[in-house]
Amino acid sequence: MDLDLINDKWDEIKQIVTKETDTSDIAYNTWLKPLEIYDIIDDTLYIIYSEDSESRMIALIEKKYKLIIKNVVKDITGKDYNIKIILPNEAVKLGSSTQKDEESDKELNYEFTNSANYMDSNLNPNYTFNTFVVGGNNKFAQGTAFTVSEAPGEICNPLFICGGPGLGKTHLMHAIGNQIIENDNSKKVLYVTAEEFTNEVIECIKNSRNKSNENDMTYFRDKYRTADVLLIDDIQFFVDKNAESSQAEFFNTFNKLHTLGKQIVISSDKMPKEMEEFDDRYITRFEQGITAEIKIPDYETRVAIIKNKIENRNAYLPDDVVDYIASNIKSNIRSIEGAINKLIAYSKLENTEITIDKAAELLDSIISPDKPKEITPQLIIEVVCEHYGVTIEQLISKNRSQNIIRPRHVAMYLCTQETDCSQDTIAKLLERKDHSTIINARNNIIEQLKTDEELNNQIEAIKKKINSN
Ligand code: ADP
Ligand code: MG
Repeated sequence: MDLDLINDKWDEIKQIVTKETDTSDIAYNTWLKPLEIYDIIDDTLYIIYSEDSESRMIALIEKKYKLIIKNVVKDITGKDYNIKIILPNEAVKLGSSTQKDEESDKELNYEFTNSANYMDSNLNPNYTFNTFVVGGNNKFAQGTAFTVSEAPGEICNPLFICGGPGLGKTHLMHAIGNQIIENDNSKKVLYVTAEEFTNEVIECIKNSRNKSNENDMTYFRDKYRTADVLLIDDIQFFVDKNAESSQAEFFNTFNKLHTLGKQIVISSDKMPKEMEEFDDRYITRFEQGITAEIKIPDYETRVAIIKNKIENRNAYLPDDVVDYIASNIKSNIRSIEGAINKLIAYSKLENTEITIDKAAELLDSIISPDKPKEITPQLIIEVVCEHYGVTIEQLISKNRSQNIIRPRHVAMYLCTQETDCSQDTIAKLLERKDHSTIINARNNIIEQLKTDEELNNQIEAIKKKINSN
C-alpha cells in the first residue's frame, strides 16, 4: 500500500525535501513540519497542513514544495501522484463531499476564488449550484436560492432555509455565495455559522474586558455590518446554546443590513414559527422574507444524487448497489455520501466491483437493519397519491373519473397485498361501505395485471417507493 509506505517514510521525505530546497529551520518549522499525510484519493496524495492557516498560505507552500514532494514520492512509490496540500477543514469536506476531479471545473472557479473578497468570504468552492442535484424535495429552496444569487437584496430578504440535518442547507448557502461572487466579485459576501459568530462575540467581549484590545468589537461589527451578503448558518445554535449576547448581536447586524437592503440568508433546522425562543419581532421579520424548506428526498432524487456523486468521483457502482443505498439511507444525504465513499474506497483498494452482498456487509454500520419497516395503509395511500399526482381527498371521494379510479383501485389492491389489515379496516380507511368494494378492486387489479404492462410497472415503482420510505 502506497499510503502506508509514504506514511512510514514521511519524515524521511520531509528531510530530503528540506535538503534539496535548502530550507532554513524557521521555514521548516513553519511550512514543512506541520504537513501530514491525509489520504490518497484517485491519483492524488492529499497532505494536510495541520496548523491554523488560510488558503493563501497554502498556495505559497504548494508553490515552494509541491514539485519536489511529487518527485520524492515518485522515487519511493514508483507512481506519479498529484500532490494537493489542504487545510484540516477541507479534509473534512473531502471525506464527505463531491470532490471534483476535472481540472476544467477548478479553472472555472479559479478566477473568482482568487479575488480578495473570495478569500475573506469563508466559502467552499465545491458547494455550487452545479453540484446540487434538484429534486421535488428541494426544488423550491434551490429556485429561491438561485434567484437570490441573481438579484441579492432585491427579492427574497431574508431568505430562510430550513430542514433536517444533512439535507443540503449549507450546500445551498455556499452556492448562493459562490454564485454572487462569480457574477460580481466586488460584492462582499460573508458566510458564518451561528457557532463561529458566537465564538467571535465571546472573544470580543473577553478581549475588551482584558482591555487588551478595545477595538475588537468595533472591528467585528464593522466586518459584519459592511457585508453585501450575509449567510448565517444553523441559527438554532443561538437558542440551543442559550447564546444570548450573540443572539442580540446577530439581530442588531440583521437589522442594520436589512435596512440597507443587503441580502441576508439564514438557515435553521426549524421553521421560523417553531423557534418560540426567538423574540416575536424577529420571527415576523424572518417570515417577511421567504421561507424555503428542504424536505427528505424521495427515492428518485436519492438515486439521482447517488449517481451524481459517483460520476463526480469518476467511479462506478452497479445499479443494484445504487438502489440498495437509495432504499436504505433515506433521510440524510451526508450519510449517503459516507456510504458511497466507503464503497468506492473499497472498490478502488481491492480493484474489484462492489456486489450487493459486499455493499450490505460494508454498510452494515451505516444502515441499521434492526427495525423492519412498517408498511401501513396510510403510507400506501400517500405514496399512491404522490405517484399518480392525485390528492388523498380525490382518492377517497366518490369521483368516478378514470384517472382517479385507477389510483384508488391500486391503493386498495396494495393495502390487501402489503399489509395485514383486514378488508373491513381498509374499507373504513378509504371511506367505503364494506369489504366487498375492496375485494372487487383487488380482483379487478389482479385481472388487469395479467395483460397490462404499464400497470405492472406502476405497481412495481409504487412498491419500491413504499419500501424506501
Ligand atoms: P445540512 O447543512 O442541511 O446539514 P449539507 O449542506 O452539509 O447539509 O449537506 C450534506 C452533504 O450532502 C453535503 O456534502 C452536500 O454537498 C450533500 N448534498 C446535500 N444535498 C445535495 C443535493 N441536492 N445534491 C448534491 N449534494 C447534496
Ligand atoms: Mg449545515
